[in-house]
Amino acid sequence: MNPPDALMTVTERPPGVMVRGEGSWLWDEAGRRYLDFVQGWAVNALGHAPPEIQNALAAQSGLLLTPSPAFHNRPQIELARALTAQCSLDRAFFTSTGAEANEGAIKLARKWGQRQRGGAFEIVTTHGGFHGRTLATMAATGKPGWDAIFPPAMPGFRKVPFGDVGAVAKAIGDETAAVLVEPIQGEGGVVVPAEGYLRDLRDLTARRGVLLMLDEVQTGMGRTGPLFAHQADGIEPDVMTLGKGIGGGVPLAALLAKEAVCCFEPGDQGGTYAGNPLMAAVGLAVLERLLDPAFVAARLQVAVRLAAGLDRISRTHGCLGIRGRGFLLALRLATPASGDVVRACFERGGLVNAPRPDLIRLMPALTVTASEVDQMLELLSDALAEVLPGSRTRG
Ligand SMILES: *Cc1c(COP(=O)(O)O)cnc(C)c1O
Repeated sequence: MNPPDALMTVTERPPGVMVRGEGSWLWDEAGRRYLDFVQGWAVNALGHAPPEIQNALAAQSGLLLTPSPAFHNRPQIELARALTAQCSLDRAFFTSTGAEANEGAIKLARKWGQRQRGGAFEIVTTHGGFHGRTLATMAATGKPGWDAIFPPAMPGFRKVPFGDVGAVAKAIGDETAAVLVEPIQGEGGVVVPAEGYLRDLRDLTARRGVLLMLDEVQTGMGRTGPLFAHQADGIEPDVMTLGKGIGGGVPLAALLAKEAVCCFEPGDQGGTYAGNPLMAAVGLAVLERLLDPAFVAARLQVAVRLAAGLDRISRTHGCLGIRGRGFLLALRLATPASGDVVRACFERGGLVNAPRPDLIRLMPALTVTASEVDQMLELLSDALAEVLPGSRTRG
């Protein structure tokens, strides 16, 4: 195979080229098959190449790709209605990526701060949080060292420890417009805050008159159980962003907000592909499947099976337990061996991810079957037995 010498280097990739996918399975050019528990980074909510998306793309691409964002189109209107019907937010703006959706949320908070809070512009975010790779969303992100890669970092963000409501309370001042957090930190390592964190943040931000903005790009669209992770806490954010699973594998993301916060004026926000009907039609097809009650019940059951199996594996191999919810789960290793475990899984035809040196993250398609879960558990257990010194064989 030719080395990809015409591509800019932005990440290390294993050799091989992926050519085809179906459900939980991915094939490379050499015909090797992989059981995929990464799924385009928690993107393919319905697995690889699902018929729902094929049909939506085929139908909409024969009708209308992009009329220009200066005109209404039917799929965009319907997707906005369908999403707002499922949560406490009133209006949507669509983008192609999660970073753009968050960028929009940052703009909305700044505009709202100008209008409603005497020019407040600052946004409180968290250490370890991840919000994207544009300059503003990198500044909002709490990844160590990220503020030094492309200086000067965009001003206007203040970071506090994740899970610490007292720190947020101290950080909120006259300049603060909003607090932006993930309900569960995904890239930061599947960090689940203590029970009540979101409720306390909701109370605090309401009391202090600042916006609560939730980045549900990774946790949303059923990945952690309910359609949106914050619904498990019974709270209503002022702003929410969605991405990844919302398009099931195509570039679609969304910014949603309460009516009182929707202060963009014509010309403030837009984008050539914002709300294009091709992607919106896919979003509608994905959402329809995710809301099917039989599918919801089935996937919650399979998620419980995965968590129970991981827990068993953790005990067998002397790991430190699991964390996460639904289909966003991580196994905590006792040693910084996650890179080796990912490689050992890859050699056995399994794809998992290592967000941290001591953490294995699993984010399968929400359509994953019990049998595929069992296959992954066996494969992962074998990989751990190979990599971890002194680990007992097979759990
Ligand atoms: C992936 C991710 C983003 C960025 O989404 P892109 O589509 O890659 O721009 C933002 N926030 C969270 C929580 C994410 O997991």
